[in-house]
Amino acid sequence: MGGYMTKTSGTSTRRHASDEVERRLADALERLGHGLRSLAQRSAREHGLSPLQQQAVLALVRQPAARREVSALAAEFDVTSPTMSDAVAALERKGLVTRSPGLDGRRRLLSLTDAGQQVARELAPWDGPLLEAFARLPAPDRDTTLHSLLRVIADLQRQGVVSVARTCTTCRFFEPDAHADASAPHHCHLLRVPLPLADLRTDCSEHQPATD
Ligand code: SF4
Repeated sequence: MGGYMTKTSGTSTRRHASDEVERRLADALERLGHGLRSLAQRSAREHGLSPLQQQAVLALVRQPAARREVSALAAEFDVTSPTMSDAVAALERKGLVTRSPGLDGRRRLLSLTDAGQQVARELAPWDGPLLEAFARLPAPDRDTTLHSLLRVIADLQRQGVVSVARTCTTCRFFEPDAHADASAPHHCHLLRVPLPLADLRTDCSEHQPATD
């Protein structure tokens, strides 16, 4: 139990044969990254925000109170706390975010104002073209793509490249390949249910990091 193990064995010949595909996959993801950055910049610009300010607004809609702080947002988006603090200060000046004392009276809890909630609703479809492209894929392709991407994210987290990932593949409750049923091969030991590929989560509120 506890996420996927990284397989380091394998012959150099086999590895050489797959290098080209790996290279092209990395190139394809890089190209996707460029496209998404461009979409995000366009959407943020239309609302007078920087891309990081846009990410903060969108995150504050869905984050539980415990993660609505500058340091948690900084970790979420792989930026330093001072950089995120500047972005939040700009959002405060724009009247989109307020700070209030947290439960311990010391920490500063961030919340969207009414104007911030309205902007968040307008920003929500920023990645619509990507969702539409995924929707045009056959369902089995979508499911296996989700599965493969989550495995890659888990591997990158183990390598220290991705810092925050509340995905099934990085969760201590996740047991890969626990069932013979190919339509639901994995298992969640917290929910005690088999997990079909399409149900694998990317931001689970029950997630606890695997320790492997
Ligand atoms: S559904 Fe949530 S708790 Fe269960 S394995 Fe996935 S991330 Fe972990």
